[in-house]
Amino acid sequence: MPIQLLDPQVISRIAAGEVIERPASVVKELVENALDAGATQISVEIQGGGLELIRVSDNGCGIPPADLELAFQRHATSKIMRFEDMFSLHSLGFRGEALPSIAAVAEVEITSCPANATEGGRLHMRDGKTLKKSALGRAPGTTISAVRLFQSVPARLKFLKSRPTEAAHIANVISQYALAYPEVKFSLVMDSKSSLTTPGSGKLSDAIIQVYGLEVARNMLDIGGQGWNADAAIKVSGMVSSPAISRSTGNYVSLFVNRRWITSRRLTYAVEEAYHGLLMTGKHPIAVINIEVAPTDVDVNIHPTKSEVKFKDESAVFGAVQRAVRQALVNMTPVSSIAEVSAPYQTTKQSALFSHHPPTTRQPVAEPLKSSASSETQPLATPKVTLPALRLLGQIRNSYIVAEGPDGLYLIDQHAAHERILFEKLSREKTLDKLEVQALLSPEPFDVTPAQASILAQHVDDLAEMGFLLESFGTSTYLARTVPAMLADKNWKAMLSELLESGDRERSQFMERLMALTACHSAVRFGQTLGEDEMREMLRQLEQVDLPNSCPHGRPTLICLTHEQLGKEFKRS
Ligand code: ADP
Ligand code: MG
Repeated sequence: MPIQLLDPQVISRIAAGEVIERPASVVKELVENALDAGATQISVEIQGGGLELIRVSDNGCGIPPADLELAFQRHATSKIMRFEDMFSLHSLGFRGEALPSIAAVAEVEITSCPANATEGGRLHMRDGKTLKKSALGRAPGTTISAVRLFQSVPARLKFLKSRPTEAAHIANVISQYALAYPEVKFSLVMDSKSSLTTPGSGKLSDAIIQVYGLEVARNMLDIGGQGWNADAAIKVSGMVSSPAISRSTGNYVSLFVNRRWITSRRLTYAVEEAYHGLLMTGKHPIAVINIEVAPTDVDVNIHPTKSEVKFKDESAVFGAVQRAVRQALVNMTPVSSIAEVSAPYQTTKQSALFSHHPPTTRQPVAEPLKSSASSETQPLATPKVTLPALRLLGQIRNSYIVAEGPDGLYLIDQHAAHERILFEKLSREKTLDKLEVQALLSPEPFDVTPAQASILAQHVDDLAEMGFLLESFGTSTYLARTVPAMLADKNWKAMLSELLESGDRERSQFMERLMALTACHSAVRFGQTLGEDEMREMLRQLEQVDLPNSCPHGRPTLICLTHEQLGKEFKRS
């Protein structure tokens, strides 16, 4: 074939492929345009997974009738004028590609009327060409309908998933933007059935109720906002789930940069990392996180769909996200309630558990950072938990401590609770450089496999910092000169083996695991008889830790059966 310039229609379809991958891409672009137009109300209607019909209506600024055709030309935009404007971008769009791309792969009708205009316009397009143009009276705003999507691109049609799957992608797009813009009223109707409506109240918790349900909304914690690095270059705000709830996939972490929905494996990881030690393995949090940075510090022009961004200083953003989430968790880890472990209590309000705590005279270990002014944006509040004073009742099965608190009966897993206490003791001592170390009378040999040896070699200094002074003695043996005092009379060799089994880790993860295992191997065992004084001491210490409600592995340390729940069980209320 000789070299020749492609027909403009072919060019448009090829280019459209980059922006419009599937029906949900059309919805995303149209919703972004509506948001850029300042709409406070956005209604989306779809049929047949978006393949038969996608219609997005807004009450935004509208397009003057004379500009309607121009809006459908490639690289026509009202959002930037010069390339430099990209660095002060305050809109979601800027490439001027969405409308022409949609018109290249679907039949499109647009009606629009600017707020101050006496008359609006209507335009009907097929194959990127105008079929009909007319004047029209309508309320201010814009409505764009796309029908017969991809009919002209059979190859694309073949790659699409089933209609329900495409519909699910569309619902996800609307959910994400509903979470990013709680002040906008969204409605989504799929195959004539209403599937989502948000009140547009401006409160994130209200949007979360609609997207994830009341139970999730109740268990969400505020992050960032007032009081958190208010003048920092990177501001992180939003809500994250308390460790009381979780999901089995990582798809519930929603990230927005300057309210643009983005995907980022690294930042998702930052969020998940903040839950380290709080969620069981395989469990993932729910999060809605907006990161605000100066437009100069982020490049949004690295992907045609604008779903990935590049930060000037990615590790700073990573750190800011992780700290904000962690802070919220440390401030407010709730106590697990019986409702989570036993089915009959499912309807019990999680928050009811917390409302009974009388003010305790003990100083909370960590004071919440949040100022009281921010309580407006908090959903159904989950205050910081300090354990109330507990009265020891006894021990059952040599495994659980039974105690009475002002709000009900407490059952405490003695091993998990002790682990938590020791873990925090270790990290405190380490920070203060006051770790108690036991010197061994004669050096103890410790044998390692080749795989363990290579991991140990990388972390000899880290181990020394935690009290394990180990010297290499031949290829497969180390000599221990000191061990952490906590482990002196315990099986520290088993602990070290377990530690070195777990493969390569970054230093901070290695240290955390080292501390968790040290705590685990030093803690009283499940099935060990405890004296009353020992148990009282344990309760007293547990009341003082930062996160009394879960062990370093993320298992709950205690559960509370409230008076209310007891009353219900005995049919007294
Ligand atoms: P971009 O959003 O990158 O500017 P688009 O192709 O999505 O490019 O839209 C082209 C132009 O059409 C926009 O810049 C805007 O001026 C106008 N436009 C599109 N949708 C709307 C809408 N819903 N309300 C008002 N103006 C719109
Ligand atoms: Mg656009």
